[in-house]
Amino acid sequence: MKIYTTIALVLIGFNLVAQNLQKFYDKINYADQLMQAKEYEKSIDEIDEILEEFTFATKLYLNRGYANLFQNKHDEAIADFKLYHANHPEDNREFIYFLTNKQKAAELLIENYNGDYTPDPDYYYLPVVSREDSLKGGMRLERACFDVNYYDLKIHVYPETKSIEGINYIHFNVLKNTDIIQLDLFQNYSLEVRWNDQLLEYTRDQNAVFVKFPEQLHSGEKHIVSVKYQGKPTEAPNPPWNGGFVWKKTKRKDWIGVACEHLGASSWWPCKDHLSDKPDSLKIRVYCPDDVNVVANGNLINQGSNQSGENFYDWFVSYPINTYNVTFYIGDFINFSDTVYSAKNKYPIDYYILPQNEKEARTYYKLTTKIFDVYNKIYGIYPYWKDGAAMVEAPYTGMEHQSAIAIGDDYKETRRMYKDKKLKYLVVHEAAHEWWGNTVAANDMADIWISETFATYSELLIQEELIGYDSYLDGVSKINQQIYNLWPMVGRSGVNDNTFASGDIYHKGASMIHNFRCIVNDDAKFKQIIKDIYNHFKFQTINTKDFLRYIDSNVGEEYLPFFKSFLYRHEPPKLLLYTQKLDETTTEFFYKWSNVDAGYYMPFCLICENNQKYRLTGTTQLQKFTVYNSADYYIPTAYRYDLKMPKNSFTYFWIKDIKPKNVSVPVSRGSYAEKGTMLGNSKHGKWYTIFANGNIRTEENYYMNRREGTTIFYNEKGDTLNIKKYTNDTLTGSVISFNNNKRVESGYYDGNIKNGPFKYYFHDTCCIAAKGELNNNIKEGIWKYYNKHGNVCCKIDFHNGEKTDIKYFNNNGDEIEITDTISFSSPMPCYKDGIKCLYDKIYQNIKFSSTLIDTLFNETIYISLVISPFGEIVSAKTEKSSSKVLADEIIAILFKNNDWIPGYLNRNPAYVKIVLPVKVKAV
Ligand SMILES: [Zn+2]
Repeated sequence: MKIYTTIALVLIGFNLVAQNLQKFYDKINYADQLMQAKEYEKSIDEIDEILEEFTFATKLYLNRGYANLFQNKHDEAIADFKLYHANHPEDNREFIYFLTNKQKAAELLIENYNGDYTPDPDYYYLPVVSREDSLKGGMRLERACFDVNYYDLKIHVYPETKSIEGINYIHFNVLKNTDIIQLDLFQNYSLEVRWNDQLLEYTRDQNAVFVKFPEQLHSGEKHIVSVKYQGKPTEAPNPPWNGGFVWKKTKRKDWIGVACEHLGASSWWPCKDHLSDKPDSLKIRVYCPDDVNVVANGNLINQGSNQSGENFYDWFVSYPINTYNVTFYIGDFINFSDTVYSAKNKYPIDYYILPQNEKEARTYYKLTTKIFDVYNKIYGIYPYWKDGAAMVEAPYTGMEHQSAIAIGDDYKETRRMYKDKKLKYLVVHEAAHEWWGNTVAANDMADIWISETFATYSELLIQEELIGYDSYLDGVSKINQQIYNLWPMVGRSGVNDNTFASGDIYHKGASMIHNFRCIVNDDAKFKQIIKDIYNHFKFQTINTKDFLRYIDSNVGEEYLPFFKSFLYRHEPPKLLLYTQKLDETTTEFFYKWSNVDAGYYMPFCLICENNQKYRLTGTTQLQKFTVYNSADYYIPTAYRYDLKMPKNSFTYFWIKDIKPKNVSVPVSRGSYAEKGTMLGNSKHGKWYTIFANGNIRTEENYYMNRREGTTIFYNEKGDTLNIKKYTNDTLTGSVISFNNNKRVESGYYDGNIKNGPFKYYFHDTCCIAAKGELNNNIKEGIWKYYNKHGNVCCKIDFHNGEKTDIKYFNNNGDEIEITDTISFSSPMPCYKDGIKCLYDKIYQNIKFSSTLIDTLFNETIYISLVISPFGEIVSAKTEKSSSKVLADEIIAILFKNNDWIPGYLNRNPAYVKIVLPVKVKAV
């Protein structure tokens, strides 16, 4: 029997486990389905339930992390990834480190970029700045003293030895008297500098060359120095991002190129290698082997061979050009071309391609003229139309080399998949650089976002123009998913900073411009602003401050907090949210932006379960929006852009839920200690102020920093003093005052003003003493005054606060005549709590110090009072006192405690004058 029981129990136990396991898998499947359906919040709820029951399922932290990440709830996501990793340290996948460890993230980004940098923990893990960087990026006197206007560069390229030699004639204007200038050429070259046929001395510091002149050069003079050089150029580890030379062969013929945007032009030719100084024009001659030809920037103006039989090609750039944009391509190029027509001009686009790729290239370039058409339209005519445009098949990925764009993706689209596959990323992006980056150019690497941000945003505009607005939004959503938020977009000035590796200057930058468009909320106006920015700055080199100054004075200073927040902060705005369900289908939704500059505002989208959609504009102040008739709400992110949102409401930000938190404020901050609940920086919910003895002084209700509902005031003993109603931080509604826990006054306020019926009560009997209406703090209409027997003893008609009629009544209700104030009555008026109580009040409330009283007074002050038939002092006068101030003080106290039993004449209350002696002396 016993055996059977045990088996049965085991079977039942096994069954339970099996049932439980089935339930576990069902729930996991369900959570997974919710994720697939992009129901992230519901998926999180499901995962929370599973984790509560099946605590071993710690792998679900990873899923919950993703669900949070897809909702842009970044803080929650990171917390989940950390939890996951703590439970599963065996999972070494890089992305987990990447998400939970900023240093690791920086290392991976830099490694991926193939850069030779160490992250700096003291500055967002951006690459550590070296002396070489300062020499390259800094603007020292030796650089600021001259301005290059023309380069005449000749270069021999020797593929067999992977070496080059050349000479550059540098034409410059002297801006400040000097006898030394800084040129730049990498250390791996030997060089010789000449000026007017004289050999010049120089010193080399890293890649900088400080050239010494035998005499002072004077401001305003024009000079030419020639630099002859030779050596082996750096080979590019990961062009174009980590640049240098690329030596390749195709069909046994040379295919050579160079890209050096961040590395610097001085990696292969001597120049003033600083972004702030573009020559007005440039000539480049390249000698190359016989079986190949050369394409470079600008127009081909000459080709031939020298006495030694070396072939050369002369290309001329007739516009200012960045040194990093100067390039050449050696290869067995053939070419075909298109023509772009604009309103006033036409210009060719030449395609230089390797002959074996002609068919693919012709298909690949199909939409190129259309892309140029769009840019002509939205920004202005192609800035280098006299030089023509060109796309050259490059032995590296791609680069925006001015009027000779490098296209190196083997005519395959691999980097950014647009909705229309005929649109090619490299063509769209690099062509945009002709306007942004090449024409509106950064003058410091710190500000290179100007180039990549607008080039990347141009990709979105191309999608909008050529495919449609949905495609534009699709592009925005894809871009938003690629933001790292590791480094600020603006880098460190003067050190050739490298902000490329995280990609944020591309994606977050484009997202910023899209957000700006949402803020402007007028597409035509927005596009005009962008066009105006381009046209204002074209052919200039600018930095972030120039950009912000332009926004400030030409677009609107209200946009500055937005741009500054996005450009200088490494993390995006956070939308702080708090929701309060009022009932099943009504939700109060509180929101504000944080991690932003003061004055920031930006819209976002709120979608309710009933499919109502709202474009709400958040500010840095907590705001409220009430959702009606909907059980739930949703804020779309890049992962839910498919929900049709109101125009210009799909912005990029992080979301953070906030909860009211309990706060205690110690007494030191004010006269009373406080405690209560805060929502963000606002008092919200119950709030108390507390006496030093620990008793509650006030019990208040706050709603987003404003008093709302009932506030109760107590004295130190714990007696209730007042019960007041507030609406929107003003006294509105009923107010009741107490004395010794007895009601003494009741009435109504409206916006801090007494408005409505008021009643006053005798302090001792709690019987009504007077009632009437107050209108804006002033008595209006008939006020009735009662004696202690509950009979009306007086009626006064008020109009605009003035007494217009007074009637007195005896206990039988008969009207009586009272004409004069009398000095004797039976009984005489007396203070309602007795005369001793009145003296106590006077002595307790006199503000003069006892020392002062001792020094000045030791006397009796006499004050005459007239007590009205309804128990009020109607006049008070000092009869005898050596201090008017002190007497006035006493009178003020008397008026504050104005509650008398009137004197009677012939059984009727009357105006009675009494004289009150007050002895003042030191205690
Ligand atoms: Zn770019």
